[in-house]
Amino acid sequence: MADPATTPAFARRGVMLILSSPSGAGKSTLTRNLIESDPLVELSISVTTREKRGSEINGRHYHFITRKRFDEMRDAGDLLEWAEVHGNCYGTPREPIETALATGRDVLFDIDWQGTEQVREKMAADVATVFVLPPSAEELRARLERRAEDTPEVIARRLRNAAVEIAHWEEYDYVVVNDDLDRCFKEIRAILDAERLKRLRRPAIGVFAKGLVETLGQTLL
Ligand code: 5GP
Repeated sequence: MADPATTPAFARRGVMLILSSPSGAGKSTLTRNLIESDPLVELSISVTTREKRGSEINGRHYHFITRKRFDEMRDAGDLLEWAEVHGNCYGTPREPIETALATGRDVLFDIDWQGTEQVREKMAADVATVFVLPPSAEELRARLERRAEDTPEVIARRLRNAAVEIAHWEEYDYVVVNDDLDRCFKEIRAILDAERLKRLRRPAIGVFAKGLVETLGQTLL
């Protein structure tokens, strides 16, 4: 099959697929599975001033930077959006996103509601937003405790912030409940597939459709 990113008649602008959820709702696994399942999807790698967790790799999970560097990037307009979450700063570098979208690649974002609001305001036509809900409050707590990479104080803070994050669920285009990872993954895949086919995202298909109309019109004459 033709590669939709490189065949001119089917060329499209990429989708900015934003996933938000409280920490511990399984979003990182979903994100990883999506990236691994589809070479057209790229992950937006945020910058953060948070301490690196033991299992994280600099440049892969985040770009871990100092507060000074973060402020410089923000002030230079290099961040598409930014927010303070759990007492640390997080932001999305602008340049890789613009390059990916222009070449028909989709970009997946794992950002909070504050960042989602900013991206929606700036690039409404490109954005599809998904909120991932945990199956229950108990399960959310259990998942954060199982991760065991954070201190009890950090876990307590993340649980308090979960309530704030979840309160924004109604601002999203789609909502999925992560009680079954496979099903949830399939649902997000379906959202991405449908978003890719949106007419407004595919200006070049107009040439193809007009050609069909002309050819069929002549056949009928
Ligand atoms: P964590 O510290 O657990 O990796 O992430 C904490 C929260 O920060 C998550 O809800 C995540 O979605 C959010 N986050 C990560 N990167 C960004 C970013 O670049 N911008 C915004 N606004 N939020 C982010």
